[in-house]
Amino acid sequence: MKGNKGGIIDRLLTYIRTENGMLSVDAESIVATQIKDFLDEIPGGFFIYDAAEGEKILYANKALLHIFKCETFQEFLELTNGSFRGIVHPDDLDEVEKSIQEQIAQSQDDLDFVEYRIICKDKSIRLVEDYGHFAHTEAGDIFYVFISDATEKINQRLQERLQRLEIIEGLSVNYDSILYFDLDSDTVLPYRLSSRMKEHFSAKWEVRKYNELIKDYIAAWVHPDDRASVTESLATDYMCKVLKDTPTYYFNYRCIQNGETVHLQLRIVNVSKQDRASKFVLGFRRIDDEILREIKQKQILEDALKASRLAAVAKNAFLANMSHDMRTPLNAIFGFAELARKSLSNKQDIGYYLDRIDDAGKQILDLTAQVLAISDAKTQDFVVQKAACDLKELMNEVFEATRSEAVKKNLDVTLNLDALQHSAVIADCDKIKEILHVLTGNALKYNKKNGKIELSVTEKQQDRSIYTYSFVVKDTGIGIGSDALERIFEPFEREKDTTESGISGAGLGLTLARHNAGLLGGNIRVESAKGAGSTFTFAVDLKLADEVETADGEVQADSLSALNILLVEDNEINMEIAVEILGDAGFHIDTAENGQIAVEKIKNSPENKYDIVLMDIQMPVMDGRQATASIRALGGKRAEIPVIALSANALERDKQLSLACGMNAHLTKPIDVELIKKTIAEILTRRKG
Ligand code: ADP
Repeated sequence: MKGNKGGIIDRLLTYIRTENGMLSVDAESIVATQIKDFLDEIPGGFFIYDAAEGEKILYANKALLHIFKCETFQEFLELTNGSFRGIVHPDDLDEVEKSIQEQIAQSQDDLDFVEYRIICKDKSIRLVEDYGHFAHTEAGDIFYVFISDATEKINQRLQERLQRLEIIEGLSVNYDSILYFDLDSDTVLPYRLSSRMKEHFSAKWEVRKYNELIKDYIAAWVHPDDRASVTESLATDYMCKVLKDTPTYYFNYRCIQNGETVHLQLRIVNVSKQDRASKFVLGFRRIDDEILREIKQKQILEDALKASRLAAVAKNAFLANMSHDMRTPLNAIFGFAELARKSLSNKQDIGYYLDRIDDAGKQILDLTAQVLAISDAKTQDFVVQKAACDLKELMNEVFEATRSEAVKKNLDVTLNLDALQHSAVIADCDKIKEILHVLTGNALKYNKKNGKIELSVTEKQQDRSIYTYSFVVKDTGIGIGSDALERIFEPFEREKDTTESGISGAGLGLTLARHNAGLLGGNIRVESAKGAGSTFTFAVDLKLADEVETADGEVQADSLSALNILLVEDNEINMEIAVEILGDAGFHIDTAENGQIAVEKIKNSPENKYDIVLMDIQMPVMDGRQATASIRALGGKRAEIPVIALSANALERDKQLSLACGMNAHLTKPIDVELIKKTIAEILTRRKG
């Protein structure tokens, strides 16, 4: 400890002592008086007290008396009991004395600094800052102290600190756990603890080692799938690297608590001074609904993006397929036409070439029909027709059609109807046939050499008159990989293998078939494995027909040849072809170039001159629908002449419009004589019944 011999303080102390005795006038005393006067005038408080027990106050300047609201030194001594212990507020005393002792012991210059409360003469409480100095003097060990009233300053500081704490509290309300991590000392101090985190701190202010704590926490709570990423995001190297450039980062993860998944977010904030990254606050909070919604929203967007990318891929594949599928039959048509031209003298060859041209034309027709039907299915509601339908007959028809194709490919087709006990039902026969046509068509297309196709139907009673019918088309073909099983029902989707194998198709058949099955209230399932064949099952609930229509009333298609037909068609070439084909089939044909001429002809002829009208739709002067409406308005037998639309418009909507204006049926071009005959037979049968 430093001495202060001969210094200002010594002189002052000497002066203080002699002042109480007789006044001395020596030079030394004069200097001491000047020192005292000077100290009395300085603005801050100053006092000296004995370091020995009792801590007796030896001197106090005027400014100090003023701080304690005392008029005289005497008053001040009475207030403080003449001791330093009486200066300090009783509640702060122990801490202040301890602090002074510690500081003096550690300080080379014997200095200390303490803050404490004092009780003034008027009972008011003030806060003071106390800069003390311990000194050895001739008169013994003393403390001399500079004091200033810091009430306002400290209050303001406390206020700010309080506000800051409140702000922190406010901002952190959502955080269940808040930890303070000091990288330098590798310690984690808890500020707030969730029920989960509490289990890792035995005492409230327990300090833990960071790496151990994080390891324990992850093992105890974090979802197994998130453990690796959480470990990585909390590695100190990673934290320092990220927080060098940005003050904060966060990540989401899942915990398992009581068997339930909890979504959490951990935010890490760099609270280090300057440019360092060594002190961090870790805030853990449950992710509220909003963020969960955000995550879901993001997922939806990602899915939509994926779907639109897939849709674009599917569309491109479709266009490529279409272009390929159109080109192949078109090439065949041009090629065989060229060959036919070169073989005009050889009837047999020409016949063969024309058959091939026919096949190719049919392929294009099928494709166009499918594309139309798909676009139609997307925009229109089909009207399901309900009529008596014999499933045995229907299956035989499908079987025959399949077999005739199968022969060309050396495939074996069988039909098993043993389980079909109730075959007379009310159903949309055409739609069922369309569906089975797609399934058998695929069984033919995707079969292997010498393969088999088995057709069968089973039934299961649901209600008194409702049965579930399962139409099964089983093949021994190339099969479908499990990844493609659902996809093949999507528009334009084809399994990669079949696209690569060069089997033509637009990828629309099953889409349509499933759509139609849905319209009928049924569904299509598939079981298949690559290389192991496929089984498609179309199941639908159908009502039994009350009475089976007897064959007696039926008009046979073969007995129609002598009928008189009025053919209404504006296109010359179409007219020529139609007259030729229908004439060949034995019909008597009269023609009209537009609707108006047709109506006039019917009006001006004997009332049963025409048995049937075949009516084009789009025509100049009067179109087919207007003409039909006019015919229906004629009155008498003429108004009842069956009218069949024969149109290039193949959409379901067109069919509905035709029926709505009074037509009996709607057929599409090109002309199919057999279908015309069949349709006429059906119409006439209905008339009879
Ligand atoms: P397309 O036959 O015109 O491609 P579909 O919609 O009828 O269109 O069929 C979609 C895809 O499903 C086919 O391209 C094929 O990959 C697969 N597929 C359908 N039926 C079968 C089957 N019986 N055997 C193997 N693959 C099939």
